[in-house]
Amino acid sequence: MLSLLYHGLQWGAVMEFDVICVGGGVVGSLFTALLGRRRPDLKIALLENKQLNASKKLESCDIDHFYALDKARRMSAINTGLLEEIQRQLAPQKTDFFDNACPMQAMQVFAQEGGSHFRLESPSKHQALAYTLSNDYLSALLKSYLCASTKIIDNVTIQAINRFDAQNSPKFKLNTTCGELTTQLLVGGDGINSYVRNCLHIEKKISTKPATAIGGIVYLKIDSPQLKASHDQAFQWFMRDGSVIGFLPDRQKDHFSFVWSLPSDYLNGSSEQQTHYQAFFNKEKGAENLSQFLFELIGVDYGIHALKVLSKPVSWPLNRFQAKSFIDTSAVLIGDAAHSLHPLAGQGLNLGLEDCFTLVELLGQSDFRPINLQAKLAAYNWQRQAASQRMSIICENLRSAFENKTWLAVLPRNIMFDVFDHSRFLQSIVSQQMSYKIPIHN
Ligand SMILES: Cc1cc2nc3c(=O)[nH]c(=O)nc-3n(C[C@H](O)[C@H](O)[C@H](O)COP(=O)(O)OP(=O)(O)OC[C@H]3O[C@@H](n4cnc5c(N)ncnc54)[C@H](O)[C@@H]3O)c2cc1C
Repeated sequence: MLSLLYHGLQWGAVMEFDVICVGGGVVGSLFTALLGRRRPDLKIALLENKQLNASKKLESCDIDHFYALDKARRMSAINTGLLEEIQRQLAPQKTDFFDNACPMQAMQVFAQEGGSHFRLESPSKHQALAYTLSNDYLSALLKSYLCASTKIIDNVTIQAINRFDAQNSPKFKLNTTCGELTTQLLVGGDGINSYVRNCLHIEKKISTKPATAIGGIVYLKIDSPQLKASHDQAFQWFMRDGSVIGFLPDRQKDHFSFVWSLPSDYLNGSSEQQTHYQAFFNKEKGAENLSQFLFELIGVDYGIHALKVLSKPVSWPLNRFQAKSFIDTSAVLIGDAAHSLHPLAGQGLNLGLEDCFTLVELLGQSDFRPINLQAKLAAYNWQRQAASQRMSIICENLRSAFENKTWLAVLPRNIMFDVFDHSRFLQSIVSQQMSYKIPIHN
């Protein structure tokens, strides 16, 4: 009841919107913030099932606060061009996005098998290759740029979604714990287990067998001439056993957010592997056991002086898929609701942010008549399916190339690493890819 009063809704009253976005993660928040600016004429609502404490939205996500938390926080590397575009569209006069982001000047990638390595540097000292930011912080920051007219409805559970026809225009009715809502366009930004996607019966194409990730915050001290290490770099190791260990730099010196992606057979593998896995989640000694294990895996070979897992290790399943369609009549999926990638290329969120720019650009040109709206959604589907497919193929090929241990795979892969390491031309192509340009629509 309190929640109803808070949102100003009454039993029986139906709130009508032009656009409802379900899911207030980074992608849903960016989408609603951009659309509100582009189309002030639309009535927009953002629905989030978690509670967003209005007075603590940003403070509770304060960078230092995270170190007090006994859980892994998810950090993402965001391509420089994308972050610049967010700032340009939402806050051209301010620097919030960059103030709290950690610039990543270079990334270094190692193949444990064969010992090859490459280093990709930012083309300019003044501009980073990418920026790392905590997902929670970024989504709270984006919400602070929502237009005043955009309604945030948090702490809400959707009980049913039904389609109905109103004057030849399809609409959705959402039964929620905060009352009944209707909308002309329903946007699913509600992550990998998307309720919207399930209600619309949109199937998923699963790209590979599931895997597991272990993550946390780590203190890493590297002192090796071979690595040219400094704290503004990301590191990634492709291990002999098919697992991938990635470290993203944090704002605090020598602190990194890490993700270790394990193939599913690790968990069902030898009893030694299973014992290790269980030891990482031991209440008292989990972090210590993991520190020691990771240090043995990579420290000795690569001149790592100290490696200490600072947070309690957390594990979560890695689901990789692409929705068979990103749209339905008057409905559209964005972000992880539409696609989820292997984290090894660090592109999942970037893909979701691009979804937002593309969709807002197309909706900006729509008069919202059903035929026109459907044509814009079809254009979105075509463009974003292709982009997601491309990225998924890159990630899966990389992953399987490193799982394959025959010399026929190892040799060409290592030669490619060396060629890439010495080719400024290839490196500049990849750096350019990390810079976002808004597609032009006719
Ligand atoms: C280990 C790991 C490392 C990664 N590293 C990177 C990286 O370096 N770079 C990168 O680009 N990407 C990275 N990613 C991917 C990135 O984290 C995700 O792509 C991104 O978080 C997706 O954002 P989203 O807003 O689409 O979904 P989410 O962050 O999952 O947000 C969904 C939101 O919807 C809400 N919600 C869910 N269900 C409902 C409902 N029924 N009603 C209302 N609200 C609901 C949730 O509470 C949540 O707030 C990584 C992913 C993993 C797993």
